[in-house]
Amino acid sequence: MKYYNLGNRKQKVDFSTAVLQGIAPDKSLYFPEFIPKLRNDFICNIEKLSDDEIAYQVISPFIGDSIPPKELKEIIKSTLTFDFPLVPIEQNIFSLELFHGPTLAFKDVGARFMAHTLNYLTPLVGEKYMTVLVATSGDTGGAVANAFLEFSYIRTIIVFPKGKVSEIQEAQITSTANKDHIEAFELDGTFDTCQDFVKRAFVDEEINDFLTLTSANSINIARLLPQMFYYFLAYKQLKNKSIPIVCSVPSGNFGNLCAGLFAKEMGLPIDHFIASTNRNNTVVNYLSDGTYHPIVPSIKTISNAMDVGQPSNFVRIQELYGVNINNDEGLESLKKILSGYWFDDGQTKQSIEELYQKRQYIADPHGAIGYLGLKSFLNKQENSNKYQGIFLETAHPIKFRDDVEQIIQKKIPMPNSLKETLEDDLPRTLLWSYPQFKSYLMI
Ligand SMILES: *Cc1c(COP(=O)(O)O)cnc(C)c1O
Repeated sequence: MKYYNLGNRKQKVDFSTAVLQGIAPDKSLYFPEFIPKLRNDFICNIEKLSDDEIAYQVISPFIGDSIPPKELKEIIKSTLTFDFPLVPIEQNIFSLELFHGPTLAFKDVGARFMAHTLNYLTPLVGEKYMTVLVATSGDTGGAVANAFLEFSYIRTIIVFPKGKVSEIQEAQITSTANKDHIEAFELDGTFDTCQDFVKRAFVDEEINDFLTLTSANSINIARLLPQMFYYFLAYKQLKNKSIPIVCSVPSGNFGNLCAGLFAKEMGLPIDHFIASTNRNNTVVNYLSDGTYHPIVPSIKTISNAMDVGQPSNFVRIQELYGVNINNDEGLESLKKILSGYWFDDGQTKQSIEELYQKRQYIADPHGAIGYLGLKSFLNKQENSNKYQGIFLETAHPIKFRDDVEQIIQKKIPMPNSLKETLEDDLPRTLLWSYPQFKSYLMI
């Protein structure tokens, strides 16, 4: 399998190069040359397969001979160390819980797969000082830091906005910075400023002469592709596979949704997808009126991991369905597959409250938006029983405990894994300027 550069289609690289670079030299994204089709009997017999086998069948055609089967199986085994339960909420509505990993968010899957993949690839290409650089609005930082903990020869640098991530998210990032190879930077600014610093570092020649940089954001295909796994694992768990399936994905940078669409194109029978967002509703607006206006700077909400007004992965979705945002090309065919709804903080809170009062289910703000998107779609159908719906519950509610506990008026039990994380005075370096950031990188 080759990956082409969306900025220059003639430029093609293999899986390893795409992963090690993270992003093409002109800063465009890599895209697979084709979406492999799975054999029908794989889908029909999915219940008989183990989670690891399913993941292997799904991802191996994307990897080609960059990683031999035995090593790829090892990587998958080290990635999928937790479950993805499909929890019934109401008749024909399920929550796909993606938060049972070490940092309690779905990003653990992509981050762990990427860390183990880089650990395999780096020695082969002889990169001297591989440095993973990542800007985070909350969940990415913790997941990436945790995934790279055991790989002490890979330097991992995380930049997060001061005071704009939740207490637990912050502790998850900074508690790993006790290790020499992981550095946490707290920037006095917004997520956009963090991303700007990281982007500048990627194009800074002096830095690139000194370090081999790669990105651990979902622009990196090694983080994006493994996110296909849990759509297949959800399908495996569905008891009645004859009712058409609709899947609602709480979206920010649109990596998770993009992976779901890849899964569909591989042959997974999901009838329809819903992009559910907060007020950072660039894509939802595009689906409704055909105009694409990125929201810059992004708007702060209680679903902070989705505070992205300029979603990086939407270009991949455009590529998949031949969509051109400058004219109406492809929009109608995209709308057959994808609907979009957005919700403000008030609606999100109300949804958390209702899910708790009526269904005794504690959702986090992101999952609550996924649920709202699903309900809005179903309510618009002439016959809402035509579908069974899945919403992705992308983080554990404890990560947003201040908001959630206030809404449901109840304490959320603290998972054991978190207790040690929440110490005081964890290490971080305060950043205020790009030159200062650069001087730390060049140490
Ligand atoms: C990152 C994140 C999202 C958004 O996922 P994208 O792939 O960026 O669209 C949603 N919910 C949670 C909890 C997240 O951490």
